[in-house]
Amino acid sequence: MIVGIPKEIKNNESRVSLTPAGVYELVKNNHTVYVQTQAGIGSGFTDDHYLKAGATILDTIEEVYAISEMIVKVKEPIAHEYKLVRAGQVLFTYFHFASSKSLTEAMIKSKAVCIAYETVEDDEGSLVLLTPMSEVAGRLAIQQGAKYLEKPVKGRGVLLGGVPGVAPGKVLVLGAGVVGIQAAKMAAGLGAHVTIMDVNMKRLRYVNDVMPPHVVTEFSNEFNIRKHIKTHDLIIGGVLLKGAKAPNLITRDMLKEMRPGTVIVDVAVDQGGCVETTRPTTHEDPIYIIDDVVHYSVANMPGAVPYTSTVALTNVTLPYVLRLANQGWETACGNDPSLHKGLNIIDGKVMYHEINEAFGW
Ligand code: NAD
Repeated sequence: MIVGIPKEIKNNESRVSLTPAGVYELVKNNHTVYVQTQAGIGSGFTDDHYLKAGATILDTIEEVYAISEMIVKVKEPIAHEYKLVRAGQVLFTYFHFASSKSLTEAMIKSKAVCIAYETVEDDEGSLVLLTPMSEVAGRLAIQQGAKYLEKPVKGRGVLLGGVPGVAPGKVLVLGAGVVGIQAAKMAAGLGAHVTIMDVNMKRLRYVNDVMPPHVVTEFSNEFNIRKHIKTHDLIIGGVLLKGAKAPNLITRDMLKEMRPGTVIVDVAVDQGGCVETTRPTTHEDPIYIIDDVVHYSVANMPGAVPYTSTVALTNVTLPYVLRLANQGWETACGNDPSLHKGLNIIDGKVMYHEINEAFGW
């Protein structure tokens, strides 16, 4: 199969959909890979790296779309790319159709085969191609939170690990899912005292089993949250209600209960956030302050570490890319129920009822 890797053109997107290692695997399986020049540069991969792995470099995005039977991307196509997508072409990427009617209509019109990373689901219901980005965001949440606790950026002036003779900082993690567990692990590694909360007892039992004793679990309810926000330095929002807006576990009035310089990193911002005062921010302007509480709520946190994010993403997408290339999309999706769940639009037909629901179709 002919596989195309365009350079991502969405604002501030430095990831690339395939590493040179991925290209190497495809070429080894007798596929032809076209990579747009400079596609990997934001993640630290040069054209030369791709050439050595067996790819052919093309100058323009138009050439990549025109020649490829399957396009593998990171983000959804943006307006400039709509007209480049061809009937019968396979597109494998994050789409998030329900959040964009114009994208959905364009892909219906294109008659392409759209397989969305975000709906590929394993037997246990895990969204396997979203998990690595939650892992990145969870770990990064502590790195960012630690930075914004510093005084020059209006934080409390607390070093999370403490020093001999000074108690460590305290981190409150809301949600013991992928984000929450990675955040708790990083914070614990720095020596902070960690409280992690969830409403799912199975998750709390798991955390209790695997984490060191300075990570304490507690059931998530308003009473317990109100108690802890008064004493914790850094609060991480990692709550998710599948397919719904995140619940506001921290309301506006609660900010007054926190000490000045407390930092909130609301990772759940992409689902509306679990803090009432959360609004999306960008890497250029990541924080704002309300009632002396520092809010960090970047909607695309993995974008700050494109090398790690690219490799983490391609580690999980490559097996699917190989199956699609080796077997063709119909056989690959027919043989693999996980991949089948990724089929969102085929030949102008919406296959995923949540998309129809989102637009009242
Ligand atoms: P997950 O499903 O693995 O975990 C969510 C957890 O929240 C679950 O354990 C669930 O039981 C728990 N929960 C639900 N209601 C709760 C409540 N009232 N109190 C406490 N816990 C509660 O999800 P995840 O992969 O960890 O993702 C968390 C959020 O982070 C999602 O909204 C995801 O989209 C977002 N995210 C954002 C970025 C970013 O760049 N900002 C990156 C990756 C993920």
